[in-house]
Amino acid sequence: MRRSVELLEMQFESEIRMLAEKLRGARRVVALTGAGVSAESGVPTFRGADGLWREFRPEELATPQAFARDAVLVWEWYDWRRQKVAACAPNDGHRALAELGRRSSAPFEFDLVTQNVDGLHRLAGSNPVWELHGSLWNLRCTDCSRNREDRRAPLPSIPPRCECGGLERPGVVWFGEALPSDVLAHAFEVASCADVFLVVGTSALVQPAASLPEVAGEQGALVVEVNPELTPLSGLVDLRLAGPSAQILPRILDAL
Ligand code: NAD
Repeated sequence: MRRSVELLEMQFESEIRMLAEKLRGARRVVALTGAGVSAESGVPTFRGADGLWREFRPEELATPQAFARDAVLVWEWYDWRRQKVAACAPNDGHRALAELGRRSSAPFEFDLVTQNVDGLHRLAGSNPVWELHGSLWNLRCTDCSRNREDRRAPLPSIPPRCECGGLERPGVVWFGEALPSDVLAHAFEVASCADVFLVVGTSALVQPAASLPEVAGEQGALVVEVNPELTPLSGLVDLRLAGPSAQILPRILDAL
């Protein structure tokens, strides 16, 4: 038993070393993250047990139809999520990705693309962060389209109102809505010329983000998945590092 654990650890070490070597020779590296990267910070994933709020599933609240029906109910849910995230701090996984982006000695260009709306990558120091699904901390007026950042949690009044008097909505992408075209175009552009593409903490079910690793792989990138669980992508990636991102990402960084 102990022998097989040692063998697994040796295999893991050699995979990390192989990845580090590939990273040292890379010109462009892209990371796509999902809710799992924030799990160890205490932010619930949608599909985890504590992802639910009252009796609602996210699919019932994160839609334009739900907002049109009951803006107060939808805002109460977002206010609850904002308060939960406000109590969380970035973890070692967020910090390792920030470090990959800032390493002055790193030989590669680095792009961080996230499906997360919690803002923890920015708090960890990543800049820029390509937020495919917007941010919990942004509010957008449904009348004049003004965007603003507001980090108060809880919000002083619900639903929040714009200076113009219009109703504000959360600055996130809801089910059935288009992703911000500039962010999406950038994500596909860098995916198509990446030498290494890291897929971290995402169940790879939500399109179009789920296509990014496939595009990268088709164009010759080494595609690496960091996730403790199997996903629909697992059989397609070049390397699977099974485990929590807050442990695995710092090990990749150390090996560099
Ligand atoms: P998901 O909830 O569908 O899947 C989470 C994935 O993370 C799973 O594959 C799980 O195995 C993995 N995971 C769990 N713990 C992990 C860990 N410690 N390290 C690495 N991986 C771990 O999340 P998704 O694929 O990002 O899709 C959900 C959608 O919901 C996204 O569009 C996102 O915008 C939104 N969402 C965001 C947040 C957030 O901002 N933190 C939280 C919940 C949902």
